[in-house]
Amino acid sequence: MPRDRGVLRVCALYPTLMNIYADRGNLLMLQRRCEWRGIGFELLASGLEEPLDPDAADLYYMGGGQDRDQRLCALDLAERKRDALHAAADRGAIVLGVCGGYQLLGATYELADETLPGAGLVDLWTVRDPGPRLIGNVAIEVELDDAGPRVLAGFENHGGRTHLGPAATPLGRVLRGHGNDGRDGREGVRRDTIIGTYLHGPLLPKNAWFADWLVACALGREGLAPLDDRLEDAAHAEARRAAGLPAR
Ligand code: GLN
Repeated sequence: MPRDRGVLRVCALYPTLMNIYADRGNLLMLQRRCEWRGIGFELLASGLEEPLDPDAADLYYMGGGQDRDQRLCALDLAERKRDALHAAADRGAIVLGVCGGYQLLGATYELADETLPGAGLVDLWTVRDPGPRLIGNVAIEVELDDAGPRVLAGFENHGGRTHLGPAATPLGRVLRGHGNDGRDGREGVRRDTIIGTYLHGPLLPKNAWFADWLVACALGREGLAPLDDRLEDAAHAEARRAAGLPAR
């Protein structure tokens, strides 16, 4: 179970390599949502060749990357950080992977001439398709808890097609856009506190409710004090509109 110390401790994995598409914005969003409520925030990082402490953070974050950079991270992850990431997830820490980071949560990422290892946290694999990249605004319906179905809206841009194995549950159902493989209507993955998604652009500023869900879940809280979310709600409405959904 997460321990509530009144401080959210976030560890960014490979923050200088896995950071395309405004991943920094996701980290800033977590920081601001905490600070505005008087919750402390600590940002740690673990890059190439650096150790990963499985007890040091409540949330481990890995963003998107180009295949070239992703390759370096995949090899380092498999060699140095895999066990620690499993241990972190086993004790209930959140592991959030976005796009390239999502792909690396699975078993493998198959490139044309090489198969990269993943962290093996969830039952999925990704194949780099020589065909067109899956690009565009995207909206998915997710049901994370008893609060009922909600919408995550964002942007996707991936050459990889992700296939869920029989033990994997998708994060959501595609309402608009491509999703995991452009075919089966599923998007992302969820196993307890492990979450992967192709949505970025960035994900959390467009979906403040989800940022709050992550913060609450990471700290083991039932809920969080409300904030004045007029700007955030407008950003969410705009992202929904961009994906072709009604604003509400
Ligand atoms: N390199 C991966 C792909 O193209 C992930 C891209 C990304 O993170 N945007 O599928």
